Amino acid sequence: MRDVEPDGDDETAYECFDCGAIAREEAPPGECPVCGGSMRNRQTPME
Ligand SMILES: [Zn+2]
Repeated sequence: MRDVEPDGDDETAYECFDCGAIAREEAPPGECPVCGGSMRNRQTPME
């Protein structure tokens, strides 16, 4: 069994600290697919 993310979205946007690349994944990519840098969860309550 798997729990669903509390925000209800299937995909979450992650942003690279180093180059700012955005990756929409269901799970944290761990590292940037572009530069290999650290990714962070990009939770924006705006929009
Ligand atoms: Zn990057």
